Amino acid sequence: MAVRKTPLRTCVACRRETGKREFVRFVRDADGEVHVDRSGKAPGRGASVCPDVACFEAAIGKRRLGPALRSSLSEDDVERLRREFEDAIASSEAASSRSGR
Ligand SMILES: [Zn+2]
Repeated sequence: MAVRKTPLRTCVACRRETGKREFVRFVRDADGEVHVDRSGKAPGRGASVCPDVACFEAAIGKRRLGPALRSSLSEDDVERLRREFEDAIASSEAASSRSGR
């Protein structure tokens, strides 16, 4: 029996599978609000998306992100999440360039 050391996540947009650290995770908190989960550890129902705006747009455009989170996202929510998502990508790129890539 194969043991997976790294839990795999699947992008809700393109269905690519990879380790969870590669993804931006969205989480629905106890109040039903959806946020980008920067820690990757927030409790609640989560959905993973590649750190690529194209996947975010596909997840929204194909109406996959809301259902994955059991949440209905308003246009305001989508706008807010787009900004949080872009921030998360920008900061992870900054982090990887600091580590010498
Ligand atoms: Zn993807």
